[in-house]
Amino acid sequence: MVHGEKNDFKRVGIKLILKIGIDMNYTIVKDDIESIDSCPICECSEVILVARAKVLNVEYFRTCCCENCGFVFRDRRPKLDWFMRNWNLRDETQVNNKINFINEKIEDDRVQRYLETARFF
Ligand SMILES: [Zn+2]
Repeated sequence: MVHGEKNDFKRVGIKLILKIGIDMNYTIVKDDIESIDSCPICECSEVILVARAKVLNVEYFRTCCCENCGFVFRDRRPKLDWFMRNWNLRDETQVNNKINFINEKIEDDRVQRYLETARFF
């Protein structure tokens, strides 16, 4: 269990749209999200919340650090089949619209985000 966090997963039941690009929308519903109750390495259930991502008050990503072994993992995330469907949708959209998927601004933002995460740890 995450210290200081109330599990509001039961309230996730709305249709959620994440607008990523001009015509790419990723829809996610409660059944697309899975939760992990313990560390995948040592099975400890005590974790420290590191980060969470919400859209429209729906928490679809939560990153935790295991109190026992220090492993950092997502204990709330979309299921693999959700990713597969949406990676295929993204690929189809990019091919059909001849979109160059390498965007220097996005890559610069990603590097900055990873550097900030590295500094945190
Ligand atoms: Zn652990």
